[in-house]
Amino acid sequence: MLDIQSIRKDFPILEHKIYDKPLIYFDNGATTQKPRCVVEKIESGYYNVNANIHRGVHFLSQAATEAHEEARKTVQSFLNARSSNEIIFTRGTTEAINLIASSFTDECMSAGDEVIVSVMEHHSNIVPWQIQAARKGIALKVIPMNEKGELDMEQFRELFSERTKLVSVTHVSNVLGTINPVKEIIEEAHNHDVPVLIDGAQAVPHLAVDVQDLDAEFYVFSGHKVYGPTGIGVLYGKEEWLDKLPPYQGGGEMIATVSFEKTTFNELPFKFEAGTPDYIGSTALAEALRYVNRLGMDNIAVYEDELLRYATEKLNAIEGMRIFGQADHKGAVLSFLVGNIHHYDMGMLLDRLGIAVRTGHHCAQPLMQALGIEGTVRASFSFYNTKEEIDTFAAGVERVRKMF
Ligand code: PMP
Repeated sequence: MLDIQSIRKDFPILEHKIYDKPLIYFDNGATTQKPRCVVEKIESGYYNVNANIHRGVHFLSQAATEAHEEARKTVQSFLNARSSNEIIFTRGTTEAINLIASSFTDECMSAGDEVIVSVMEHHSNIVPWQIQAARKGIALKVIPMNEKGELDMEQFRELFSERTKLVSVTHVSNVLGTINPVKEIIEEAHNHDVPVLIDGAQAVPHLAVDVQDLDAEFYVFSGHKVYGPTGIGVLYGKEEWLDKLPPYQGGGEMIATVSFEKTTFNELPFKFEAGTPDYIGSTALAEALRYVNRLGMDNIAVYEDELLRYATEKLNAIEGMRIFGQADHKGAVLSFLVGNIHHYDMGMLLDRLGIAVRTGHHCAQPLMQALGIEGTVRASFSFYNTKEEIDTFAAGVERVRKMF
């Protein structure tokens, strides 16, 4: 059992007042708030261990290098990866997907080859492939969904062809909350000898992820969505795959030797980390992962599910309520519209009550098209949210409804 009141004390921002009302932060899908230990880690990193890492002979440089490499091991054990060589630090999910889209396409795909994605992808798992489509002539195949917002697994099976080279799907939808059956998806892809990339941006903050158990070739997530800092994220890749792929960016750190005649590349994981990495961000991300581990990912999942059920019931009691995403396996995300009220108006008016929700297409325009809408209001919960906050939120939604 989580002690929510004591957890809330770790997040100073939750004590803020917005327009004189207590802040109710329900925009956790966009980014999460940071516990004090993460912010303090950043501060103490810059005050005490700041020096450029790797290759430094001096004390501080070695201390900073050790901290960065220790952070890599923390991520490795958080994801249960086999080796820390399989953990590449990136700027976030977006950069990690772009890295794979670029390097994988260069190495493994030619014109006419296909990548399978799903209709519920975030733009960051669509556009990088479209850029490759324009450059290399590869094609996208799209898994459709049913009316509950679950992927159509039968159709998925039928999308495979001789030209399928990769499956790239989200673990959890940032709009519908659907928790996709990624294990089954990976198994099916492997039956066709096709590797899989999983976008874990909305999964890692909410449920325990074990990359060996999933057996995905690539798994990516963003630090800022799991209570860590912005500007740092992770690409997990099976070592044999990362070894096989060419570097994404060139520069310092990623080389073994450079001459004008021939340059050789560094070994993993450095081959994919060109330039000075965010060595303070990596240690702060590790601090965030230790924090959620202390709470326990399973405890987090159970509590957030309780919040989701409670909020779903409350919202469903409101006249004209339409909730998008009714999957059997669903994370703590509620996308909705009420009557003809524009999502933007709802968001603006809730804001005046101190309630932070997101409105719009949530970087998933193709999904909006599939749903036949322009956007939704999205409330996304974290373990620091409470049922009392949900009561205030539901009363706020009802109040807005009555205004129209
Ligand atoms: N994928 C999903 C499912 C997301 O929700 C997000 C962030 N909204 C991203 C990718 C992109 O993450 P980032 O902006 O941190 O790179």
